[in-house]
Order: sequence, then structure tokens, then C-alpha cells
Amino acid sequence: MNDLSHLRLDFPVLQRRVHGKPLVFLDSAASSQKPKQVLDVMDAAYRTYYANVHRGAYLLSEESTAAYEQARGKVARFINAARAEIAFTRGATTALNTVAFGWGMDHLRAGDRIVLTMMEHHANVVPWQLVARRTGAELVYVPMTDDYRLDLKRLSELLDERVKVVSFTGMSNVTGTMPPVAEIAGLARQCGSLVVVDAAQLVTHAPVDVQQLGADFVAFSGHKMLGPTGIGALWGRPEVLEEMEPFEGGGEMISDVRLDGSTWAPVPHKFEAGTPPIIEAIGLGAAVDYLDKIGMESVRRHEMELTAYALSRLAELPAVRVFGPAEVDHRGGVISFALADVHPHDVATILDQDGIAIRAGHHCAKPLTRTLGVPATARASFQVYTTREDVDALVDGLRRVQEVFRVD
Ligand code: PLP
Repeated sequence: MNDLSHLRLDFPVLQRRVHGKPLVFLDSAASSQKPKQVLDVMDAAYRTYYANVHRGAYLLSEESTAAYEQARGKVARFINAARAEIAFTRGATTALNTVAFGWGMDHLRAGDRIVLTMMEHHANVVPWQLVARRTGAELVYVPMTDDYRLDLKRLSELLDERVKVVSFTGMSNVTGTMPPVAEIAGLARQCGSLVVVDAAQLVTHAPVDVQQLGADFVAFSGHKMLGPTGIGALWGRPEVLEEMEPFEGGGEMISDVRLDGSTWAPVPHKFEAGTPPIIEAIGLGAAVDYLDKIGMESVRRHEMELTAYALSRLAELPAVRVFGPAEVDHRGGVISFALADVHPHDVATILDQDGIAIRAGHHCAKPLTRTLGVPATARASFQVYTTREDVDALVDGLRRVQEVFRVD
């Protein structure tokens, strides 16, 4: 067994008690907790060398700029990319908006198709809807199979010369499904389509190598991968980044500004308008260091073992229905479920009394939860610090929910 339980000591918040009970944190897909290695780096940056980046001709600004750019290099290496191919953004949402608007507004018109899937987070639906409305392009959604996988046969049938962009999640934040990204990218590229991967969940649950994915863009957030909020990244294929217009204008992203027009700073700076989230970027660099030290292969192994264990333990409760693939090869550690007809908010509230934090709701993926035939699900999600004991606590907690609601 790939035991990572020693890592728990690195996460100060995991030492606290909630309602008098030890905290069992099972909502990492919404946002992960932060190790002291990340907190310390951010604290030291603020205390010792903080200044704005790329501006000052003085030591603090030079140090701050160096740390910020070093963090970019770390994030790039983490996904096997070059430094200039990483634009820092506010998160996956901003990264996806940058592509939808920056690329979409110039390349889409009436008669074109944008292919999304039924599994998408709103962050990979709404920007495309906004752009479709303005350009006249049509949205098409790839359905799921009965076993919560992506229907690749239907995807193949949909792909033709009208399809200009295929944008899909690398791992669903509801069902945990991990579609075969490289295979889908290959199919999409055959018909000349742009390929965008929402890796907000994928990047922290499995190794990601952009050289192997075959995508044009990959978007992710720092806060789900042990880093701070307010920072994320957009990776782009260099030639596409070069050609794409910036989504936001302002300071930092220009080469020259005249009254009648402006020219842009080189990639990736043309995508970073305004003062960036400096310390957050440095914190993300520290989070990447932390994950690198564990090794993403090890993270994935831990999660597969834990997910298999959780699925088998949940199967002990006949009233629990899991929405997601049964085989851990095709999924990550995000488990959505229903407990008989008990409302997920009631499940979450009762678990909270035992110090167990899960998520209940539509998880910002309303088209998907609607497809599941439920208004909401309960969701337990894992990270490197999640243990079998956490899963056992969840199962015990669910038994108590059953008692309260007299579920057989
Ligand atoms: N995509 C997926 C699959 C997600 O799970 C999330 C967040 O839950 C997002 C995109 C949006 O990420 P953020 O809110 O950090 O921009």
C-alpha cells in the first residue's frame, strides 16, 4: 500500500477539531488544504523581499521578479512545458475565459461548432456559451455512457469539418471520470479542431505531460493543488499563444501604447494584464515543489488505492448509490453519491456534526447533475493527505445518517 499518511502533519488545519471531533476533510475537490511548506514560502516572501514585479530597478523588485519567474518555471516543468508557455491567471476559470474569448472571438463564426461534454464544470460551459452567442457558433455536447464514461463513439460521430474547438474536462469534479485525453485530442485534431483541456482536477490527481496530451491549451487552478487561491495557469502551444489576442488589456501586457493603438509584450506576458498575484504565484511554485517531492505517480497510486477502498466500503451500505465509474483506472478520487432519498444537504449537515466535511450540491455542473436525475449529490473528494481512516469515518457517519432518517 502506498501510504502517504505521514504527510498529514504538514497540514496545520488537519490538526484542528471541529464540533469537538477531529477534522475529517473530504472536500478537496472544491479546494485543497495547504501544507506549511507553501504557507512558509508565502510568509517569507511577504516578510523579506515583497515588491511589485517587472518594474523596479531595485533589489527587492529584482528578487520578487526572480521568485515569480522561477515559480513559472516550476509550474512549466510540472507539466513538462517550457516556461514561456505558461501564463499565470486567476485560476482555471480565467484561463478558460482567456481561450474562449481570446481565441474564440477571432476564430468562430455562424456554422462553426464548439464541442463540449455533459461532464463539464460551468467554467468550461458558460464562457463558450457567451462566445457562441456573440459569434453565432453552435454548442454541441458529448453524452456520457451508462457507466459514467464519455461516449467516445458519439464523439467520433460528431467530429466533422464544422467543429472548430473541442473543450473537455480531464477529470470530472462530480463523477471523478477521467476521459482518455490523448485519444480525444487525437480524434479532434484529425478534423482540424482546437483542443482545450480543463485540467482543474486532473493536474492534482495524476501526472500531466502536455507533450503527450496533444492539446492546444490546458487550464488549471493553484488552490486545488495545495497552492493558494487567486492563482492558476494557462498552458498553450507556443504557436497558438503567439497568434492569440490578449483577453484583458492594461499594464504589464504591452510593448508600446500610443493614442491610436498598442502592441503586445511577448508571450506569456501579453496574457498577464495588471499587477499579477505575485505571492500566490510563488506559493503555487512551492505547492509544485511539494507535489514533485511526493511524485505525481505516487499521488495517483495513493488515490487509486484509496478510491478502490472507498468504493468497496460504500458498497457495504445498500442505500448508497455512487455516480461514477466503478473501475479506478478510469476515475480519480472524487466520489459523488446519494443516500436513499435523504437530501444531500441533510447528509452533509449530519456529517458535519461529526467533524466530517463533504460537499453537497450541484458542484457547478448543473447539466451533469440534471443528467444524473438528481438536483444535487453528496460528494467526498480526496487529496494526498486523505487516509483510509477518513473513509472509515465517512462510512460510520453515513450509518448515523441512516439511523436519523431511518433508512434500511
Ligand atoms: N473545472 C473543474 C473540473 C473544476 O472542478 C473547477 C472548480 O471546481 C473549475 C474548473 C473552476 O476552477 P476555479 O474556480 O478554481 O477557477
